[in-house]
Amino acid sequence: MKKAITKTTSPLRIYCDIFGHNYEMTKKVTSHVKEYTCKCCKRQLTTNSNGKLTELTPKYEEINIILADIYTRRMSRLKQESFSSSIY
Ligand SMILES: [Zn+2]
Repeated sequence: MKKAITKTTSPLRIYCDIFGHNYEMTKKVTSHVKEYTCKCCKRQLTTNSNGKLTELTPKYEEINIILADIYTRRMSRLKQESFSSSIY
C-alpha cells in the first residue's frame, strides 16, 4: 500500500500559520539573492529571478548554487581588476 507523501504537520507549523513565519537569513547567494529559513518550522525561502520570495525547492537550490558560483567568480575577478588597476 502506498502512502501519500505528506509533510508532518508540527505544532510549530500551526504557530507559523497563525502568527507568521520567523525567517532568518541563512545564506547569501549573491547581493540580491538570499536564502531564508524559518526559525520555527524550518521552511526555506529564496529570492527568485523576479526579486520575490519563493519556496526553496531543490530546483531553486540548484540555481542558487550556480548563481553563487558565478557571483564569487565575478567578485574575485573584480578584486583582481581593481588590484591590478591600482598598480598602474
Ligand atoms: Zn515557520
